[in-house]
Amino acid sequence: MAAPFSWIRPEPHGIHVGPADCWIDPSRAVDRALVTHGHADHARGGHGQTVATPATLAIMDLRYNTREGATPVEYGETIRLPGGVDATYIPAGHVLGSAQILLEHAGERVVVTGDYKRRADPTCPPFEVTKCDIFITEATFGLPVFCHPPIAEEMRKLLGRLAAHPDACVLVGAYALGKAQRVIAELRAAGHHEPIYLHGAMERMCRLYEEHGVALGELRLVADHTKDEMRGSIVISPPSALNDRWSRRLPEPITAMASGWMRVRQRARQRNVELPLVISDHADWGELTRTIEEVDAQENWITHGREDALLRWCQLHQRRARALALVGYEDEDD
Ligand SMILES: [Zn+2]
Ligand SMILES: [Zn+2]
Repeated sequence: MAAPFSWIRPEPHGIHVGPADCWIDPSRAVDRALVTHGHADHARGGHGQTVATPATLAIMDLRYNTREGATPVEYGETIRLPGGVDATYIPAGHVLGSAQILLEHAGERVVVTGDYKRRADPTCPPFEVTKCDIFITEATFGLPVFCHPPIAEEMRKLLGRLAAHPDACVLVGAYALGKAQRVIAELRAAGHHEPIYLHGAMERMCRLYEEHGVALGELRLVADHTKDEMRGSIVISPPSALNDRWSRRLPEPITAMASGWMRVRQRARQRNVELPLVISDHADWGELTRTIEEVDAQENWITHGREDALLRWCQLHQRRARALALVGYEDEDD
């Protein structure tokens, strides 16, 4: 009999599942990839076969034209891979289509979270705690200093600033996949029903969200409107457009940015952000440690961020843990 868990192995370019010869979120093109979600550090083009949720496949197709070899799996659905490996896709609460992947082989259960959060998000179903033997968790915000405030508080800040400057606009930098749509949906939930203006780079992803049932209200393109029409409005752009020439077409923009990194004052200053909004699609320190407790696996594998502090926390709480050294994961997404 093979040694326990010898069928799953962390390699520098992803997690390899031996009997099925497949990779989870590989950072290079492979024959068979199981993809947790559409962010660029997890989803790459060029795989022979890509197994993912329908929404993730649609996002990948939008970004890399990957319709060929796409195998859709719904949430809660199990697919049988070669070598007697079963894979079940479970909501991760990170962005539209995001999934944890439960792998089962020879009576052993491993969960790979991909990226996740525990806060409610109107754009995707919530993270589900799944019992397993090995829990492979991300650790993007794996330091006790990271404690994301309630999103309603950040919405109040944003709408308050807008109300105080009716002749200006508030320009919010947000990543095109996930963050932008969550901010828009949360603004709607907070009672803001005015048109929201978009940088052209956000349009297609917002439409894709709407096609998948996420209502975003009236969206308009900045390019189609005058400065005066945009006074007193919220404008959403990619973070890279915050300080470039493009923003000169806006009426006296007040620069905001929605990111978990806005907790770090220096990062806000680097981007000349006047209104930092601490809004993250990743678990903060409290969510990471609570999740490890609730999942209660025999062993935790920590990757994708600040592994050291979480490793130390596991040791202090008598939980077996190891840090993985995967390469090629940058947080494009937060
Ligand atoms: Zn992500
Ligand atoms: Zn990621």
